[in-house]
Amino acid sequence: MKLKINPLFVLLLLIPVFVGCSSKPQPAAKYIFLFIGDGMGAPQVGVTESYLSYLEGKQGGEKLTFSAFPVYGVADSYSADAIITDSSAAGTAIASGTKTCNGMVGVAEDGETYVNSFAVNLKQDYGYKVGILSSVPVNHATPASFYGHDRSRGNYYAITTQIPESGFDFFGGSGFIEYSGPHGDDDSEVFLEENGYTVVFGQQEFEKEYEPGKKIVMISNPVEEHRGNTPNYAKQTDTLVTLARMMENCLEVLGDREPFFVMCEGGEIDWECHGHNTMGMVNSIINMDEAIKVAYEFYLKHPKQTLIVVTADHETGGVTLGNQGHFPKWKRIAAGEDDGNNGIGWTTHGHTGNPVPVFAVGRNSGKFTGHYDNTDISRKLLGLE
Ligand SMILES: [Zn+2]
Repeated sequence: MKLKINPLFVLLLLIPVFVGCSSKPQPAAKYIFLFIGDGMGAPQVGVTESYLSYLEGKQGGEKLTFSAFPVYGVADSYSADAIITDSSAAGTAIASGTKTCNGMVGVAEDGETYVNSFAVNLKQDYGYKVGILSSVPVNHATPASFYGHDRSRGNYYAITTQIPESGFDFFGGSGFIEYSGPHGDDDSEVFLEENGYTVVFGQQEFEKEYEPGKKIVMISNPVEEHRGNTPNYAKQTDTLVTLARMMENCLEVLGDREPFFVMCEGGEIDWECHGHNTMGMVNSIINMDEAIKVAYEFYLKHPKQTLIVVTADHETGGVTLGNQGHFPKWKRIAAGEDDGNNGIGWTTHGHTGNPVPVFAVGRNSGKFTGHYDNTDISRKLLGLE
């Protein structure tokens, strides 16, 4: 018997094969937000919710924007050389999917081999625009993990000079540690302006200077004398541009025509926890949550194309909700009478090795359920698992 086969029919059969063969991994979403609360373990979130519940006259049940997200997972945080990580090793693990030693940023544990953050993959391989924001300096460990490479996180000026190589579109932070280079180099502002960035201090300068197509480095402090070394950690005050406002600016720069990735760090949470400052910790988590609200509103406009992930690099302070049988005395804590006997327990002034929570909502958020390693986060975002 002779079978007559229509060539068009054969072609139609082959199309799915070709599509299947040619498909490279697809990033988890067109618009990806990753928030990192520095030092924000699950107990820090629980303590903050307890405070919010106290404000409503309740024992519990109040939620932050992100703690109400439908997906919850847990990530291990240890580094290549320690059970207890620091921010640079954890940032590098989250950003590049590679464990490294404490103190190193954007390099493998040999201290030399550069490892790229997935933000670089997204930009180079998929044409994503990229924004990197923090409530602490832009050359601090967590933001640096997404664009910098150095065997020491302390080489701040060297890390700043790597910003232009990233080609990222928006940087935001409280300033620069080592504003001037250690060997009479250009100031950070001069160096970045000479290498393709417009550096703005404060909201007014942003609004005056920004035009579509410009790459921006935004410093939250508008004060002229802040053109200098920024302390490691500058508290949010009325003069500083809030992280939420910075996020709005970032989204204005990135637009929604092309895909984008935004990393936003609540950096001072860690420092409040180092200092056992309960209200400071609560307020810094609420500050980050305000920026998450901006992302969540964007998600509500683009629900099928947006993914928001919120996690931490490590836990700081070993905090507990309740201590030695005492409940948190929120009235006293909120009044600033934080005398250490207030029902909030702390076990260390350093970091701990506790795993960290991962909250997620939106496209492919289901990938973030369960218990995994912090190095898995980049692979999930790149669509490799
Ligand atoms: Zn710390």
